[in-house]
Amino acid sequence: MMERQEVLNWLREPDEQQLELLWSRADAARRQHVGDAVHLRGLVEISNHCVRKCEYCGLRAPNTGVKRYRMTADEVMDCARLAASLGYGTVVLQSGEDHRLHKAWVADLIRRIKEETPLAVTLSLGERTPDELRAWRAAGADRYLLRFETSNPALYERVHPGRRPHELDRLALLAELHQLGYEVGSGVMIGLPGQTFEDLANDLELFRDLDLDMIGVGPFLPHPDTPLGQLPRPAGNGQQVPNSELMTYKALALARLLCPRANIPSTTALATLNRSSGRELGLTRGANVVMPNLTPVNYRRHYEIYPEKACLYEPPEQCHGGLKQRILALGRTVGVGRGDSPNRLARAVKPGPDAVGKEV
Ligand code: SAM
Ligand code: SF4
Repeated sequence: MMERQEVLNWLREPDEQQLELLWSRADAARRQHVGDAVHLRGLVEISNHCVRKCEYCGLRAPNTGVKRYRMTADEVMDCARLAASLGYGTVVLQSGEDHRLHKAWVADLIRRIKEETPLAVTLSLGERTPDELRAWRAAGADRYLLRFETSNPALYERVHPGRRPHELDRLALLAELHQLGYEVGSGVMIGLPGQTFEDLANDLELFRDLDLDMIGVGPFLPHPDTPLGQLPRPAGNGQQVPNSELMTYKALALARLLCPRANIPSTTALATLNRSSGRELGLTRGANVVMPNLTPVNYRRHYEIYPEKACLYEPPEQCHGGLKQRILALGRTVGVGRGDSPNRLARAVKPGPDAVGKEV
C-alpha cells in the first residue's frame, strides 16, 4: 500500500522524467484492475437552478448573470434515447441543487428511462434528503455522484457559506448512499484556493477509506462571477496546490493507485485546460471513463460552472465519432454495457469485515 509520504512526494515532484514512472504505474494498475475498455457515460445537465452558494461555482444562487433553465421530462428522455442509440451504457443526470426537481418527478423520470432503455442511471443532483435518495434508488437509480470537495473541515466551511446546522454533511450523505445500495462516487477539485498539499494527500487517503466506486478529480477553474474566481492567485507560497494540468494528472494517477478498482473519468475540466490532448493524457494516466455531454446545445451554454468549458457547441453525434477514434488510437476499446463498478463486484464476492455499506 502506498504510504502517505510517498503520496506527498509525488504531489511535490517537479521532474517530468521522474513522473513518467508515476504515469506508467497508474496505467498498469488501470489495465490490471479495470481493463482497456473506456466506458462512456452520457451527461445530461437537466437544470442549472441552484439554492447553494458554493464560492467556486458559476451556478451558485447569488449569481444573477445566469439564464436559468430546467429541462422537461420529455427533453431528458430524448437525451437518454440518444445515449442508448450511441451505444452508451449509462446516462448521468446532473443539476444544481434544484428543489423544484421534486422527489416524484425525478422518480418518474428514472422509471421511464429504465423502462424504455437498457441504461444505468447515475444521479448527481446535489445534497438531497435521505427520503428522496431512497425513493430514487427504489425507482431504479444505480449510482450517485457527490464530491466532498475537500476533506479539510475549515476549508469546507469557508467555501460553503450559509449552511444550516441541521443539514447532513456530504460525508454523512455518502455513507447514506452506500447504505441505500447505490454505487457511490465522490471527488475533489485540484487547486481549490486554500487547498494545501497536506489537504490533497488527505483527500486522496479519504477516497481509499470511503471505498469509492467512482472518483472525479478535475482542476479548479476560476469563474469570474464567483468569490473564489475573483481572488488573485496565491503567489506560490509552497503550500497552495496549483490548479494546473500537471497537478490534476498527479491526483488522477494517485487516485488510481490508491483505489485501483474505481471507475475514474478523464474530466471535462481537464479537457478544458488542454483541449488537444487533456482527455487522452488523463486516459493514459489512470482514467477509464469519459462523460460526453448530451445536453441540448441551447441549454448547455447556460450550465456554466466555469467559463469556456470544452465541447460547448459540438452536437453529441459529432462529438461521439471523434471520441471513438481517439479512444481506439490509444489502443483502448470502447466499453460495452453498463460498466458497473468493478470495486462493488469485488466487494460482493468477498465482503470484508471493514467494507463500507452493505450490498442490497
Ligand atoms: N450540484 C451538484 C453538486 O454540487 O454536487 C452537481 C453539479 S456541480 C456543478 C458538480 C461539480 O462541479 C462540483 O462537485 C464541483 O466539484 C465542480 N465544480 C463547480 N465549480 C467548479 C469550478 N469553478 N471549477 C471546477 N469544477 C467546479
Ligand atoms: Fe450548486 Fe453544485 Fe454549483 Fe454548489 S457546486 S453551487 S451545489 S451546482
